[in-house]
Amino acid sequence: MIRTHYSTQITPEMQSPVTICGWAHEIRDLGGITFLIVRDREGLVQVTLFKKTIDKNVLEVARNLSRESVVAVTGNIKKEAKAPNGYELIPTEIKVLGKAESPLPMDTTGKVDADLDTRLDARFMDLRRPYTQSIFRIRHLIQKGVREYLDREGFVEITTPKVVATATEGGTALFPITYFEREAFLNQSPQLFKQLMMSGGLDRVFEIGPIFRAEEHDTRKHLNEATSIDIEASFLDHEDVMVILENLVKYVYTYVSENGKNYLSNLGVEVKIPETPFKRITYTEAIKIANDGGEQIEWGEDLTTESEHTIGKTIGEHYFITDWPSKIKPFYAMPYDDKPELCRAFDMMHPRMELSSGAQRVHSYELLRQRITDQGLNADGFDFYLKAFRYGMPPHSGWGLGAERLLMTMLGIENIREVVLFPRDRKRLSP
Ligand code: ATP
Ligand code: MG
Repeated sequence: MIRTHYSTQITPEMQSPVTICGWAHEIRDLGGITFLIVRDREGLVQVTLFKKTIDKNVLEVARNLSRESVVAVTGNIKKEAKAPNGYELIPTEIKVLGKAESPLPMDTTGKVDADLDTRLDARFMDLRRPYTQSIFRIRHLIQKGVREYLDREGFVEITTPKVVATATEGGTALFPITYFEREAFLNQSPQLFKQLMMSGGLDRVFEIGPIFRAEEHDTRKHLNEATSIDIEASFLDHEDVMVILENLVKYVYTYVSENGKNYLSNLGVEVKIPETPFKRITYTEAIKIANDGGEQIEWGEDLTTESEHTIGKTIGEHYFITDWPSKIKPFYAMPYDDKPELCRAFDMMHPRMELSSGAQRVHSYELLRQRITDQGLNADGFDFYLKAFRYGMPPHSGWGLGAERLLMTMLGIENIREVVLFPRDRKRLSP
């Protein structure tokens, strides 16, 4: 290995020579003294070259470096209170491992503002900024926290196909693809496969994976390729999985605030851990709050973005909307026995937007077939799915939680494109 330490692993007292690797963040030549600031994943290192004592060749390399070139610097550590992490590196060797051309596609020091499109076009360069990198380090922590929590709750992580023959549900547009001599689609949700796992006896499963939605959105909360955190669990009803969901959100917030302090401070964000249990309101109460606040929603219509904002402002924290009209929820949501116009479905909301949808599922074969036809879908296409309901299907419930929405609302980020490495939207397919 070339590198001996990350910048933050070095202490001012270290005696033996070290080698750090990173990018030439800044070069300041003051005549008698030259500073080369090297940036690695964890932070900055001040490399100090005194003209009087430095080897001429080393000084030559430093002076000719272009910004953002990749270097390996070997040298000795000297205590220096004014430098990052309290030390400076006096080099004995500077190797250029990857030269950077100039001008750069964008600035990485944070001194020049770049708009989001420029940043996304040069994402590799944008990621070198501590701000952007912190977002993705927190994204990693969220996924780690989710896995830790669900594993402890007995969930088995699964991976389901993204290339499928039929739509998961009506409504959402699909991306068709060519699959040998047939047409196939990119899956819009792991829903049907998760349910097959309930018949398969895995009991509790989860998946963190891509979902594809071909809707021509142009909003700050929709992507055409998003990441969904999905669970399905047997012998639990909708209220049981709502408890799992709110506890998971609280766990992940706590996990990030404990393990991501550096990143949060780079972003200037203070995370407020939501209190559980989250407030629960029914769909009927929700539209009343929206309409009292000036919206015009008829009972039976889906909530608009504006109405989500109106309700969110009134409630002011994470909350659930329960007891939805059966006709605006997917066929697999279970209607109440005594009032089948309502179903055991819920949405979990952040004051800014929907984060998750879930439900107790229909587990009776006859009712499920009926619900598919009632929603205007062709039951034949669902044979592979329906079959699993004929040979012993336990009652079960689950939800899907948008990973990007969880992250953007946690960090107070406005545009969902900021929290995906390479967003896919109506216009953006590259990089
Ligand atoms: P919305 O009404 O906000 O468009 P939805 O109800 O169509 O969302 P669901 O099918 O319920 O979405 O998907 C479950 C979750 O997955 C959503 O609550 C959301 O967090 C996330 N999600 C769904 N579609 C998208 C998308 N296009 N971009 C980003 N996240 C999405
Ligand atoms: Mg939804």
